[in-house]
Amino acid sequence: MAKNITPKEKDYSQWYLDVIRAAEMADYAPVRGCMVMRPTGYAIWEMVQKYFDDAFKETGHVNAAFPLLIPQSFLSKEAEHVEGFAPECAVVTHAGGEELEEPLIIRPTSETVIGHMYSKWVQSWRDLPILINQWCNVMRWEKRPRLFLRTSEFLWQEGHTAHATKEEAVEETLRMLEVYRQVMTDDLALPVIKGEKSEGERFPGADNTYTCETMMSDKKALQAGTSHFLGQNFAKAFDIQFQDKDGSMQYAYTTSWGVSTRLIGAIIMTHSDNDGLVLPPRIAPQKAVIVPISTSGEKLEKEIMPKAAELKASLCASLGGRFTTIDTNFHMRPGDRFFSHLQKGVPLRLELGEKEFAAERLRAVRRDTGGRIDIAWSDAATAVPALLDEIQKNLCGRALEFRRANTHRAESFEEFKEILEKEGGFVEAFFGGSKEEERAIKEVTGATPRCYPFENEGERGKCFYTGREGARKAIFAKAY
Ligand code: AMP
Repeated sequence: MAKNITPKEKDYSQWYLDVIRAAEMADYAPVRGCMVMRPTGYAIWEMVQKYFDDAFKETGHVNAAFPLLIPQSFLSKEAEHVEGFAPECAVVTHAGGEELEEPLIIRPTSETVIGHMYSKWVQSWRDLPILINQWCNVMRWEKRPRLFLRTSEFLWQEGHTAHATKEEAVEETLRMLEVYRQVMTDDLALPVIKGEKSEGERFPGADNTYTCETMMSDKKALQAGTSHFLGQNFAKAFDIQFQDKDGSMQYAYTTSWGVSTRLIGAIIMTHSDNDGLVLPPRIAPQKAVIVPISTSGEKLEKEIMPKAAELKASLCASLGGRFTTIDTNFHMRPGDRFFSHLQKGVPLRLELGEKEFAAERLRAVRRDTGGRIDIAWSDAATAVPALLDEIQKNLCGRALEFRRANTHRAESFEEFKEILEKEGGFVEAFFGGSKEEERAIKEVTGATPRCYPFENEGERGKCFYTGREGARKAIFAKAY
């Protein structure tokens, strides 16, 4: 049955939660900040995972599984890391009915335990590089949880690599950032800006953090994924040393990179509308739904359903998977059946009623535009994939257009404040301030530097906040 969705113009946060509820993607768990991913939401995550996993393997990475529990002392070995993560850690103090000698933390991220293992596995330069990824859950005790975007337990992948040289490690950090950009843009239809994080936004323990930033439909920014160059910080803390070609002992250089179930929140907030979820076809577990309609039970059984089954088989074959379904909710009115697919974000609805049956065609309705197209049965196997490609392109193009239209330039702090108050969105400005100045800007405006975009790498100008010359071009926004 149709479920009401609050219009996003009225209350964006409520709209977001309503979309999730109506599409049956997730629910709150009994523990605050934790989430249950329902089958519809989890199936999207599986699609997202597949694209990233393929891209990781294509670039030479392999998967492994490291433990959930980490000795508390491990975290303290890297000073900045412990300072950054300790406040968010959940700690196990008892097990088997007894107090533990050393408390164990539930991994908030795995640099420490993986660093410990790498120190055992790396002896010579021949053991490098190590290119390992793991898909797992992690826990960070979040104070302001929000379904998908920021939960206390979330699913993610974390890549952890070790290299013999700094150049190789930097190259890896940037390679994986580009892999993120590609999958996000091509498969998730999220146009992202690649760039370097400012000092205040850096991962605790990293020499440098790089990010893919994206704009949501309320003009706020979302950090979609990050890739960290960890220098030798973790190698020194965990003693990842190797004998180099010349016989000398060297510390390795390491990297880490992660994307999480937050991406599903990004997809919802980038593409969806007041009817509910809109999914880019490439990550939609159900790309097309055939809706057979007739008031005559006999016609349905003898003619329309067999044809629907035949079309489904041919579409599944042409789409390369079980991506087409048949709606058999005959107890519901056609309008309600249509609406349930709208709310679930199915990219294409293929109506097969008596009129269509007689004309040997399907009536296709696009989720992104509402546009209707008649497709002959004989053309369906080529026309449907082509239409899905078009929807995918349209969604990505629309999001990019929206970001461009909502990006403004500021020369002074006055201008900066005015843009954020009146327009919102992304503000491009030269920025040469410190961590403390970042904090001061946030206090007054609520905005943070999202990144120094690679695109503007060489540009220098006068800092809008401090007036210092030689500042880099940055993007600021209020962020999730
Ligand atoms: P980090 O290890 O902090 O760089 O996090 C890697 C990625 O995980 C970030 O870029 C976010 O997209 C995502 N992430 C971080 N914290 C959370 C959270 N509490 N819930 C969901 N995703 C998260």
